Amino acid sequence: MSIRIVLATHNAHKVEEFQKILGAQLPELEVVAYDGPEPVEDGVSFADNALLKARAAAAHTGLPALADDSGVCVDVLGGAPGIFSARWAGHGRGAAANLELLLDQLADIRDPHRTAWYACTIALVVPEPHSEHIAAGEWRGRLLDAPRGAHGFGYDPIFVPDGSDRSAAELTNAEKNADSHRSRAFRELIPQLRMSVIPN
Ligand code: IMP
Repeated sequence: MSIRIVLATHNAHKVEEFQKILGAQLPELEVVAYDGPEPVEDGVSFADNALLKARAAAAHTGLPALADDSGVCVDVLGGAPGIFSARWAGHGRGAAANLELLLDQLADIRDPHRTAWYACTIALVVPEPHSEHIAAGEWRGRLLDAPRGAHGFGYDPIFVPDGSDRSAAELTNAEKNADSHRSRAFRELIPQLRMSVIPN
C-alpha cells in the first residue's frame, strides 16, 4: 500500500533529491509534488520557513506535508547568506549570480578561514490528527575560490565537504545524498514519519 505525502517545494532538484532519499528509507511513501499557492517566506529562521511552507501544503491538499528550508552559512560572514541563500544577489537574480556575489565577497579570505556549512531544516505537518515535527541537519566544509563540477545545484560548485577533495558538484547524486545536510535532517525525521504518517 502506498501512502501519499506532499512535498512543498517547486525546486525540481530538491524534489529529485527528496524522492531518492525518502524512497530508499520508506518505500511505502509516495511523494507528490505540491503545485498549490506558496506562502511568502517571511520567517526569520530555517525552521520558521520550513513550517510555514509545510503548513500551507498540508492545509491546501489535506495530505501530510513535508517542506525543507536550507542554505549555505559562511563562518566569516557570521552565518550568512543563511536563510537568504536563494536570493543573496537579489530577488529573481538566480543561482549563478548568488554564487558570483559570494565568491566576490570572499575574494580576500584565504584558507583556513573559508569554512562554511550547509544547513537544512525539514518540517512535517500531519493534518489528521494534527501534529508538527521539525528535524535539522548540517554538512560542514569550506568554500573554493572558483567553481568546480557540474552536478548538484546552487552553491555546490564552490562547496567542498569536510573529508572530501571534490566539490559537492563533483560528487555523484548518490555520494551527495549519502552525506548531505538534507539527508542528515531526513535521517532524524524518519522515526517521526514512521510514527505519524505510516499506519501500524
Ligand atoms: P530554499 O529553497 O528557500 O530552501 O533555499 C535554499 C537555497 O540554499 C538554494 O537556492 C541554494 O542557494 C542553497 N542551497 C540549499 N541546499 C543546497 C545544496 O544542497 N546545494 C547547493 N545549494 C543549496
